[in-house]
Amino acid sequence: MRIISLLKGKCPQCEKKDIFKSNGNLLKLQIPEMNNTCKNCNFKFEKEPGFFFGAMFVSYAVTAAEFIAVFIVSHFILGLSLLTSFFMVIIIAIILSGYNFRLSRSIWIYLFAKPKVKA
Ligand SMILES: [Zn+2]
Repeated sequence: MRIISLLKGKCPQCEKKDIFKSNGNLLKLQIPEMNNTCKNCNFKFEKEPGFFFGAMFVSYAVTAAEFIAVFIVSHFILGLSLLTSFFMVIIIAIILSGYNFRLSRSIWIYLFAKPKVKA
């Protein structure tokens, strides 16, 4: 499934190898590191310099969607106070920041890549 490969950060063309070399480490303030090309099919992840500028907008959208989802769950479903819900949003945002970075880049790559047609 293509959406699963996207969420796992696999190559958009062959869906076999990882886009990212490392997941990054929030505690060490490391951002995830990318591979330049796919180790399986040689797909180039960064099509051109500055290609990932657009991924920032994807990241905003992903983060906003998560904020809204977390807020709705904590305030309206779990019945937590506004302040507690607000803290939940911040905590979740911090926990997910590394994943969001990878996810937004994956989404961006997938938007412009076509899967290789299997012979
Ligand atoms: Zn590949």
